[in-house]
Amino acid sequence: MILYNTLGGTKQEFVPHETGKVKMYTCGPTVYHYAHIGNLRTYIMEDVLEKYLRYAGYDVLRVMNITDVGHLSSDADTGEDKMLAGAKREHKTVMEIAQYYTDAFFSDASKLNIKKPDVIEPATHCIPEFIEMVETLIDKGYAYLAGGNVYFDTGKLDNYYVFGNMNEDELQVGVREDVTEDTNKRNKNDFVLWFTQSKFEDQALKWESPWGLGYPGWHIECSAISIKHAGEYLDIHCGGVDNAFPHHTNEIAQSEAYLGHKWCNYWFHVLHLLDKRGKMSKSKGGFLTVSLLEEKGYDPLAYRFFCLQSHYRKPLVFSFENLDNAVQAYSKLIARIAKLDTNGAQPDLNAAKPYQDKFKEALDNDLNTSLAVTALYDVFKGDLSDATKLYLIADFDRVLSLGLIEAAQALNARSAPAADVDVAKIEELIAKRTQARADRDWATADAIRDELKAMHIVIKDSKDGVTWEIEQ
Ligand code: AMP
Ligand code: ZN
Repeated sequence: MILYNTLGGTKQEFVPHETGKVKMYTCGPTVYHYAHIGNLRTYIMEDVLEKYLRYAGYDVLRVMNITDVGHLSSDADTGEDKMLAGAKREHKTVMEIAQYYTDAFFSDASKLNIKKPDVIEPATHCIPEFIEMVETLIDKGYAYLAGGNVYFDTGKLDNYYVFGNMNEDELQVGVREDVTEDTNKRNKNDFVLWFTQSKFEDQALKWESPWGLGYPGWHIECSAISIKHAGEYLDIHCGGVDNAFPHHTNEIAQSEAYLGHKWCNYWFHVLHLLDKRGKMSKSKGGFLTVSLLEEKGYDPLAYRFFCLQSHYRKPLVFSFENLDNAVQAYSKLIARIAKLDTNGAQPDLNAAKPYQDKFKEALDNDLNTSLAVTALYDVFKGDLSDATKLYLIADFDRVLSLGLIEAAQALNARSAPAADVDVAKIEELIAKRTQARADRDWATADAIRDELKAMHIVIKDSKDGVTWEIEQ
C-alpha cells in the first residue's frame, strides 16, 4: 500500500515494523462537547484506513485516547482547560461532562459504522505513566522546571520541525491572538509536560506528583498512552491535520527523547471539513452534529458516503446541497442493490477477482476512497450474476461500512408484503373499489379505502392503475 506520509511529505510504500502487523494510534476526542461532523470526517477516514489494512490481511492493533484533562483552549499551553470550560457551561462536574460526551462520541461513531478501537484509554487513567515519562525526560536532560511547571526543552533537539513545512512566524507563540506568551519558556516552542501553576487556579482535576499537585499537558497523553499499549514502535499515527503542529510535533519530540530512537514511521493526517465560515470547530460553536443531521431526516450513513466520495487529503466543503446529492446517490445505490437476488446461487469467485483487484488498487493508492466507490459501481456494469454482485458488494462494504446489504434488505422488507398480509383479500377489495369508482359509487369506494386503511394498507391511484403498500 502507498500512503502519503506527512513525515517526508511524500507518498511512500507502507512497510510496518513487524511483518503482517500494524500498530496504529489515533488522537481521540476532547470530551467537553459533542463531536461535530468535521471531527467525525477524520474518524471515518481513519476507520476506513484501519478496515482496509485488516482487509489487506494485516493484524491491526488500534489504540485511542480520550482527552479528559489537559487540553487547554489554546494548543500552545495557555488558556482555560477545555473540560473545565465545558463543566462550567453545563453546571456539571468535569467527570460528568467527560462521561456524557465520551458516550455521545461512541454513540455517534456507531451510527456512522465507525469501529471502536481495540484499546480506548482516558487520559485520567494514566497519571502514573505520564509522571514516569516526565521524570525520565528530566533525567535525560530534555525537560526543565520553571515557575512550578515542567517544560520540554525543544532547544535540545536538532530538528524540532519534523514535518518541515511549518510557517514558524505564523505559529510563533504570542502572535496568534488566542495565545499569550509564557515567560517561563526557554525557547518559544517549549511546551508544558506537567502543570502545577496555571493562571486558571480552579483547574478541577489535580494529582500529586514529584513537582507538586498538578495535571498533565495535553501532548504527553498521546505519547504515554501510545507507548503503554502499542509499545516502543508505532507504525501509523493518525489525526486531523490541525494536530500536526504543535500536537504531533511535540509528541514526536518527547516520545523520541524518552525512547532514544525513532518512534513512529507514518503520519496520516485528514484534511478539514469546512463550512461557510471555514474549518468546522467546536470552539467557534454553531457546528453540526450527527444528532442534528438525524433531526433533519438524514441517515448518518449518507454522511459517511458523502465523506468517502472525497479524498482524505483534500479539504471537504460541507453544504446541505452537497449532502443532498450524496443522499440521492446513496439511496439509488441501495435501491439497485435491493433489486439483486442470489436465488440461492453461489458467487463466481474467479469472476469477482478483477473487481476486487480494482477495489484494492484504489485503496492501495493512498486510500483513494472515491475510486473505491467507483469500483463498487463497476460491479453493476459487469456481466456478473446477482450472487457474484452481492458477494462483491458485501466484500467491499467490509471496508466502506455503508451498511449496504442491511439497507437493501430493510428496503425490501418495507416493500414486500408481510407474511400475515392477505394479498388476495387486498386485491379483491381494490377490484371492488375500482368497480365502485367506475359506477360513480363514491360512498362504497371510500368505505373500501377506509377498510384497507384499517388493515394498514395504503392505496395510490395513478394513470397506470392502483398500487398499494403497507403503511410505514
Ligand atoms: P478534538 O475533539 O478537538 O480533540 O478533535 C478530534 C479530532 O478531530 C482531531 O483529530 C482533530 O484534528 C479533528 N478535527 C478537528 N476539526 C476538524 C475538522 N473541521 N475537520 C476534520 N477533522 C477535524
Ligand atoms: Zn494526540
